[in-house]
Amino acid sequence: MFSLICAFVRRKMLSFKIIYHPGYDLHLGAHVFPSQKYRLIQEALLRDGIAQPDDFLTPQPASDADVLRVHTPEWVRGLKTGQLTLPELMRLEIPWSREMVEAVWLAAGGSILAGQRALADGYAANLAGGLHHAFPGHGEGFCALNDIAIAVRSLQAAGSVRNAMVVDTDVHQGNGTAAIFGGDRSVFTLSIHQENNYPVPKPPSDIDINLKDGTGDADYVAILEKNLMSALDGFHPDLIFYVGGADPYREDQLGGLSLTIEGLKRRDRLVFEHARRLGIPVASAPAGGYAQRVEDTVRIHINTIVAANEIFGRR
Ligand SMILES: [Zn+2]
Repeated sequence: MFSLICAFVRRKMLSFKIIYHPGYDLHLGAHVFPSQKYRLIQEALLRDGIAQPDDFLTPQPASDADVLRVHTPEWVRGLKTGQLTLPELMRLEIPWSREMVEAVWLAAGGSILAGQRALADGYAANLAGGLHHAFPGHGEGFCALNDIAIAVRSLQAAGSVRNAMVVDTDVHQGNGTAAIFGGDRSVFTLSIHQENNYPVPKPPSDIDINLKDGTGDADYVAILEKNLMSALDGFHPDLIFYVGGADPYREDQLGGLSLTIEGLKRRDRLVFEHARRLGIPVASAPAGGYAQRVEDTVRIHINTIVAANEIFGRR
């Protein structure tokens, strides 16, 4: 009987790893950014039986050498010592704390690990990260370190990938990522976002899809598919980093698009289907989500894992 139960449990394990650390929580308290969502996502994945404890891996913090491939020594020193100027803190839009600094170093380590595991398993999910507004010398929009850029540079430095693509579907344009990789032909950046929203200005990505206010499921998915196919037609990445923001949701407080929870899952599936069709591994990170009800944000992020299992779980 015991062996039967073990066999049942084994069958339910995922074919890929989910990267999570309790230290992902930025401990922001009453802030529009619900940074406890990382823990809520992990708990719900287990509670709903989508994942088993063995499906999770615990990341190490990124090394300073990894971080310094992207960020300036001045910015790294300011974060580590807490000696940020008032303009720097106002741009960052979250308070400095030791927990916040540890969380973003862990998020970057988690995205590095997700990239490594995606290369091994075809897909991996970091439950934190997608901090796409961080620039080399400053943070902004709740993003202190650009974990995706750090992961790309780390994997390139290790010789694990030559090139990569960032597909960013957060409702806000990935300005930090676009600026970091601008002019770098080894990293292709695609951002689909609401045009009339933060950030302003928007440094150019390789493809920027500026959506009108109120864009809904059908238009969004069609426009994304057309542009994704065009991007993958001319660029063949060793790895895709997928930034799956929950904030294109129609009930998001900081977004002005009109996607439903089901439409957001179709979006995730679309990206995964095209990557799988072409044999390109995908590492995902959740990015933003500011729904009135935090359980909606959590559900949207969980659905990214469910969609990945539907696409990459097939052998
Ligand atoms: Zn966002």
